[in-house]
Amino acid sequence: MSATILDGKALAAKVRAETTAKVAARTAAGKAPPGLATVLVGNDPASETYVRNKRKSSEEVGMVSFGYEMPAETSQEELLKLIAELNARPEVHGILVQVPLPKQIEAAAIQSAISPKKDVDCLHPENIGYLAQKGREPRFVSCTPAGIMRMLAEAGVKLSGANAVVLGRSNIVGMPIALLLIKADATVTVAHSRTQDLPAVCREADVLVAAVGKAEMVRGEWVKPGAVVIDVGVNRMEDASAKRGYRLVGDVAFAEASQVASAITPVPGGVGPMTIAMLLENTYHAAELAGGS
Ligand code: NDP
Repeated sequence: MSATILDGKALAAKVRAETTAKVAARTAAGKAPPGLATVLVGNDPASETYVRNKRKSSEEVGMVSFGYEMPAETSQEELLKLIAELNARPEVHGILVQVPLPKQIEAAAIQSAISPKKDVDCLHPENIGYLAQKGREPRFVSCTPAGIMRMLAEAGVKLSGANAVVLGRSNIVGMPIALLLIKADATVTVAHSRTQDLPAVCREADVLVAAVGKAEMVRGEWVKPGAVVIDVGVNRMEDASAKRGYRLVGDVAFAEASQVASAITPVPGGVGPMTIAMLLENTYHAAELAGGS
């Protein structure tokens, strides 16, 4: 079998076109354009690239980007002060603090300080709480999991009654995607570093989401024939023939898994582009929640 490739780049372009149209309609109605504040602390090269892309993308869809760059030695109090200022500014509708943060800053304290109404990354406990509770709708859905759900919907993947296995239980990917899959009536197993016999657990999955951060850990023989495989991982693998000396690979051994799965996301060009598209969608939504200002 050769799997269908789920093209995140193409779908992200479609989502961004939708957001562009909604932003244009909002501003044509006399409302302020959605504003996204991005905060980068320190100079981690990967984080710099992510933040640059987020700023550029928000401007491309007609939003206003407010960029803040703070030195690596910034204290938690200084960052909290900036968050309080951004919470109070009406032209800022969404706030994104790039992680990882330097070790003197506790990420949870920062995430709890962001106004839940501007929490476009959905990391505030109130928003995760909404996501976790039956019968409640979250204000925002974390960007990467929201992107995955959109890809699954677009591909027509039936989730009700399906066995889904999520590898990883992080606040930003594993846990929220597990909650979303439960909301979509899948039977969900969350696996992690203490899980016994991971290959056997994965082989039960009709839908397998890998978010561990280990290059090509999931082998072809871990995949149930016909499964849908969503590869969230972004890992650098040394490659002397590549211009930068490395290439990006996922958590799934793509060449092997694509022979067994019915559909699979590539890395790059799968989940990654969808993450930014959903961030823009969340920012638009935050602006609408705030009303005219
Ligand atoms: P974290 O490091 O926060 O979490 C990794 C999870 O994987 C943990 O739950 C950990 O288990 C589990 N894990 C680690 N090693 C193993 C193992 N050998 N076997 C089973 N489980 C294991 O990572 P993130 O969730 O933030 O990110 C995961 C990957 O996704 C990374 O490659 C990251 O770069 C990528 N990513 C991509 C995004 C995109 O837009 N494409 C967005 C966000 C992340 P335990 O809890 O027990 O420690």
